[in-house]
Amino acid sequence: METILEVSNVIKQFGGFTALSEVSLHVNKGERLGLIGPNGSGKTTLINCISGAYTNYQGSIHFDGGDITLLKAHERTKRGIARSFQIPRPFSSMTVMENLLVPFAFVGGKDGPEQQKEAMEILKGMGLAEKAYVQSNQLSQVELRKMELARAMAAKPKLLISDEAMAGLSGTEIDEVLQILFDLNNSGITIIMIEHIMQAVMKFSQRVVCLDAGKIICEGTPETVVKNPEVQRAYLGD
Ligand code: ADP
Ligand code: MG
Repeated sequence: METILEVSNVIKQFGGFTALSEVSLHVNKGERLGLIGPNGSGKTTLINCISGAYTNYQGSIHFDGGDITLLKAHERTKRGIARSFQIPRPFSSMTVMENLLVPFAFVGGKDGPEQQKEAMEILKGMGLAEKAYVQSNQLSQVELRKMELARAMAAKPKLLISDEAMAGLSGTEIDEVLQILFDLNNSGITIIMIEHIMQAVMKFSQRVVCLDAGKIICEGTPETVVKNPEVQRAYLGD
């Protein structure tokens, strides 16, 4: 199996506090990886290191055959890493379509009829086509989450990192977002799913990695990870 992402011994500190201590993990091309762990265990911090929101960490990160350790976030986006944010960050005064054309223009350098067509294709895939010309502050919670994923997809990623895209959604809404992520994976995109909703992450992931207090405490199939005593102990305190 081919590795697309290799995180090696990443250490991230905030002042004297160590949020990640020597975290190493790999993701295979085309894989669906679940990243779990109690609140404050370092999941978002790790994603920030991978996506380049932080570049002041120790260790190294390789992606798609290249060393990206020192690259800025926008350079990593161009290499094919996209992430959705735990807290949606739409341009509220823009329409859904306009929200997508921003990342399109960033990656392709253009914002013309061709980009609009491509953006519409992405929105169709998300079930958001009929909302294309609605201002994004008019969207419901689940629609906002879908738009976040659509915006990430507009950057044409090879790796999509979804940070708690299902928080606050109902059961059927969770299934809708799950289906979107399955469809994206079927189209060849590698996905890291960070999720607190255990049923969703267990259903989705081929492999699960569990963080606790900045360290990976367990890695394996969803079945073995949920049964792991250290994982259970970590979640009991959460
Ligand atoms: P998770 O996403 O798993 O809930 P985070 O990665 O957000 O956890 O946080 C991991 C730890 O790092 C927490 O203790 C959090 O308080 C701390 N932390 C996160 N971001 C910062 C920051 N910008 N400054 C200081 N501490 C932070
Ligand atoms: Mg988080």
